[in-house]
Amino acid sequence: MTTAPYGSTIPWAEPSWYTGRPSPYYKDSHRRLRDHVRKWTEEHFSDKAAEWEENGAVPQEIYQQCAEAGLLVHIAAGKAIPKEWSSYLVIAGIKAEEWDGFHDFILWDELVRGGGIASIFIGLVVGAPPIRQFASEALKAEIFPQKICLAITEPSCGSDVRNLTTTATLTPSGTHYLVNGAKKWITNGLSADYFLTAVRTGGPGAAGISMLLIPRLPGVTTRPLAIGAGKLAALAYVTFEDVEVPASNLIREEGAGFRQTMVNFNHERLWIVFQALRGCRVSMQDAMAWAQKREVFGARLVEQPVVRWKFGGMARRVEGLQAWTEQVVYELGELSEGEGARLLGGVTALLKVEAGVVGRYVADECVKIMGGLGLTKTGQGARVEAFSRTVPGLIVPGGSEDVLIDLGVREALKLQKIADKAKLAKSNL
Ligand SMILES: Cc1cc2nc3c(=O)[nH]c(=O)nc-3n(C[C@H](O)[C@H](O)[C@H](O)COP(=O)(O)OP(=O)(O)OC[C@H]3O[C@@H](n4cnc5c(N)ncnc54)[C@H](O)[C@@H]3O)c2cc1C
Repeated sequence: MTTAPYGSTIPWAEPSWYTGRPSPYYKDSHRRLRDHVRKWTEEHFSDKAAEWEENGAVPQEIYQQCAEAGLLVHIAAGKAIPKEWSSYLVIAGIKAEEWDGFHDFILWDELVRGGGIASIFIGLVVGAPPIRQFASEALKAEIFPQKICLAITEPSCGSDVRNLTTTATLTPSGTHYLVNGAKKWITNGLSADYFLTAVRTGGPGAAGISMLLIPRLPGVTTRPLAIGAGKLAALAYVTFEDVEVPASNLIREEGAGFRQTMVNFNHERLWIVFQALRGCRVSMQDAMAWAQKREVFGARLVEQPVVRWKFGGMARRVEGLQAWTEQVVYELGELSEGEGARLLGGVTALLKVEAGVVGRYVADECVKIMGGLGLTKTGQGARVEAFSRTVPGLIVPGGSEDVLIDLGVREALKLQKIADKAKLAKSNL
């Protein structure tokens, strides 16, 4: 069944199901969410990105505004809203039990399209899932509408999470942990009220790592880190000096932090893919609009076969990425969290790599099509310029490209071994 086209009619500016073509994945509640978030972001934020960039921050009160609009719980939810959170506002008339991974996808897609607004939620996106899955009821109830961030990476270890050095030592009374160490490149760290932090509570390696929810207590300091993508993500260098954290802020148990971090990566990587997809579509939309009106050498750009070839190249990569993403979102929705991580951890890693590769390709092509406008922060090329600065942020954070390619292949080989064993066991029956 086809439906009325929604959004831009420019080719590839919207996912195919927006254009009215059928899809097995999307139902009425997905369409309602899309309409709601697009209207809301356009009404409140569509013209704000440049002003926020200029000022170097999204105003603090916007977070509260988003909390009041019922957004936070949905952003934190991932593919399901836990029962503890179901009493929070549910948007667009969607029931908590209806919420699925495609709602998560649409919410992100539309927030990213909304400009700089998405940047204030990154900490929540990456920090909330371990709380949702593993924290006590009391901690779960505490986090809204606080701002949280995820603090794993340290100056001396990023990809190699097993070797992190920030320590959390239980005080003799057992009531508190004393935390010392530093974390680097922490998104939303400058504005965060809480730092979901990977700390060493035990011996070396993965088994000694735990997760601790650290409030902004005395001894916590944050300072800004400047990156090319701009200041809106409030990137921070975080220092913990003898910070006394209640022992009850431990996420589940000591030694479970490494596994919690790894499970969390699946959603973080998927979210980066959602971000890449909308960045590509927005860039293609603006480049195509420009190509349809800009005249060079007596013809519009879009009349040049080489320019059309560029759009064809971008379209097949973006639509391929969209289809693979939808398949992974569907599969994760059908599986438990544990099975999803086991079967799709490697796949999600490779999908995230592909998002970076496609994003880089699209950004480069769109910058060329826009000409000088593609390097200019204002005017018709502004969104292409912004996306081209964002692309490295799709490639390194959340697991760097080289590391994830290797992980994806190792995971596939691991699954092959398990499948071969199972087959052998069956044939021996
Ligand atoms: C904008 C931004 C936002 C971020 N947000 C957060 C956040 O919110 N929270 C957080 O905890 N961290 C965050 N990070 C940190 C990010 O996750 C790390 O930068 C990333 O994991 C890489 O770690 P690293 O920088 O220490 O690089 P390293 O681990 O030193 O690696 C450097 C390079 O070496 C290569 N490499 C390393 N290991 C291997 C291997 N085994 N095989 C092949 N090649 C390898 C890769 O090319 C890699 O890019 C952020 C980083 C950036 C830039």
